[in-house]
Amino acid sequence: MKILLMRKINMILLLNSFLYLQIFAGCHYHESILWNETISNIDSFIEVRNINAKTIIVTFGADAITAINTNNGIVVIDAGISSGLTLKYRHIIEKKFQKNNFIYVINTHGHPDHVGGNNVFPNATILGQINSINEISEHNLNLSNVKISMENLITEYDSILGAAYINAEDYHHAFTQKTRYQSALNDILNDIPLKIPNSTFSDSMDVFFDDISLNLFYFGRCHSKSDILIYAPELKILFTGDLFSEYGRPSYNNPLFIDKELCKRGVSWIKQRMGAVDVIIGGHGQILSEDDLNLFVSNILSLCNQ
Ligand SMILES: [Zn+2]
Repeated sequence: MKILLMRKINMILLLNSFLYLQIFAGCHYHESILWNETISNIDSFIEVRNINAKTIIVTFGADAITAINTNNGIVVIDAGISSGLTLKYRHIIEKKFQKNNFIYVINTHGHPDHVGGNNVFPNATILGQINSINEISEHNLNLSNVKISMENLITEYDSILGAAYINAEDYHHAFTQKTRYQSALNDILNDIPLKIPNSTFSDSMDVFFDDISLNLFYFGRCHSKSDILIYAPELKILFTGDLFSEYGRPSYNNPLFIDKELCKRGVSWIKQRMGAVDVIIGGHGQILSEDDLNLFVSNILSLCNQ
């Protein structure tokens, strides 16, 4: 009897929420139901984009890694926020390229959302600018505080996800963000610290493979202490890490932190390559335009010349 009553109540609640969706969501209600059916499946939110025959970007919301299929093995640019999610990306890349010899992981800087999956590639050389060692070590020494802020973020995104009505775009954002932080928190709870690069450079470095080469260049303190630019001349791809976002907005916390002389040198390095860049990839998998790059150059130069 009790069970029957509960079933009846559940049915009423279900019908009510369905009506609610129909009334308040207008023509989008069907889409919302569709999203709700798939939210439990992280894999369905992972996107793979082909940049050219040798390059793909794998993203899950703001989590992004790029894989380049060189004749000598796979090179990964940035490693995502956590080992759990990056392990999924690794499987996707292996399937796509039909091989599993990852030879390099290159971190565009030492922030945890770019190095969290370094340990998923145990046989690869992990390469970063030398200052990233301190950045990552400081993070690893501060895990009790990181844990608290991640728990708070997860609670915040949970409350967004629990809202009576949420559109598909907001749901996608909140779900992927919550999952990213949950996955990074799992690493802390499982005593998996961030893996520090085992190969570093201070100013610039060129890495040569059979068919592709990579020019790595330290930009100077700006978004972080270890921002690098990566240019692949054969692929005409420029990786800009988190130095700027759409519309060329430089990404920094404090203008006093910026190493003005080094950044001006970084701008010259960019300008020398500008005519031979087909694709600009930001640190969160966003494809940036030539206009974005030009705006960044003028924005950062006016800041550095003050
Ligand atoms: Zn960053």
